[in-house]
Amino acid sequence: MQSEPLVTFNGVIKKFGAFVAVQKLDLEIHKGEFLAIMGSSGCGKTTTLRMLAGLDAPTEGEIRLSGKPINDLPTWQRDTPMVWQSLALFPFLNVIENVEFALKMRGVGAKERRTRAENWLERMQISEFATRNIAQLSGGQRQRVALARSLVVEPEILLLDEPLSALDAHLKVRMQSVLQGLQRELGITFVYVTHSQSEAFSMADRVVIMSKGIVEQVGTAQEIYRAPKTRFVAEFLGSSNIFSGKSDGNGMLATPVGKFRLPQDGTSPQKGRSTTMVVLDTRSHLSVEEPGSEFDFVHAKIIGEEFTGATATIYLEAEDGSELRVQKDHDTLAALPIDVGQPLYVSWRPNETHLVSDA
Ligand code: ATP
Repeated sequence: MQSEPLVTFNGVIKKFGAFVAVQKLDLEIHKGEFLAIMGSSGCGKTTTLRMLAGLDAPTEGEIRLSGKPINDLPTWQRDTPMVWQSLALFPFLNVIENVEFALKMRGVGAKERRTRAENWLERMQISEFATRNIAQLSGGQRQRVALARSLVVEPEILLLDEPLSALDAHLKVRMQSVLQGLQRELGITFVYVTHSQSEAFSMADRVVIMSKGIVEQVGTAQEIYRAPKTRFVAEFLGSSNIFSGKSDGNGMLATPVGKFRLPQDGTSPQKGRSTTMVVLDTRSHLSVEEPGSEFDFVHAKIIGEEFTGATATIYLEAEDGSELRVQKDHDTLAALPIDVGQPLYVSWRPNETHLVSDA
């Protein structure tokens, strides 16, 4: 995206006592973009969102919203509403009163409040529940109330912290398209924290991947999937075969399972250097016969199979115990002896590998 950043994190550090939850975060969030922040539990996703919402103060560094520093701005003056997994709807107010609440706090008159709240109930297809108690709604309906309540104030940015994680799989997919549709239609910037790769990759314009308080990679889903930058990202996505070893200085990587050609992109690591190379499971192949010289390969035994719709992933174990995976369509697999214990060659073209950093 080319627009000026709506939010800038500049060298932001968050410590809880001696523990560093977010380490020197530099990140720009653009106007109108759908940004997902993804990472394993405890990596600092929620803390990042809470700092933006004003619920936690950065220990160091600066956060800017529309060019203005907001470090010292209280939550209620920020216009950065947040939607949580636990929703935090008021149980003592009915649906429409919940949606009207933030407008009331901003001094909007009763008539206008009601009209704006009704519009949002309609938009979220929950008008029929306007006078119901929150306790009498399903999880999906509550989620819509929470969204209506945050969006009725027409914020420039909406912060969402695992908003769908309490919903069942079917509802999750439906709410994903509701969220994505709303975001596109309203042009509001969404910052969306999630554990789920499928949520992040299917909805977001850009994805931030964090580990232990550090941003490992920022990019579109395609960029990150095709070319993970670090070993952590490759392992976290779980869609690559990862080979670690030492470079021989002549374009080859010596690993415990064999010697392989390094990518021929002119960046060959110097001799003896620890190097990690990855190849996507969708770019890896299986065969009974030893592959031709245009491929590099590992001999391995099948240890399992997982159906993933149009394709299946075959898991294999190499002689040193390392795990490999190959994703293929069912027609390709039907031509192979796919049984647990069956030895096969896992192969790839050297020009389809790339190096990742181990840091
Ligand atoms: P999850 O996906 O499990 O919610 P997360 O990536 O959102 O994880 P955070 O909630 O940002 O993680 O927490 C990052 C780290 O900071 C964790 O190790 C957590 O225990 C710690 N932490 C968060 N809040 C506090 C606090 N108020 N006091 C002390 N430590 C905290």
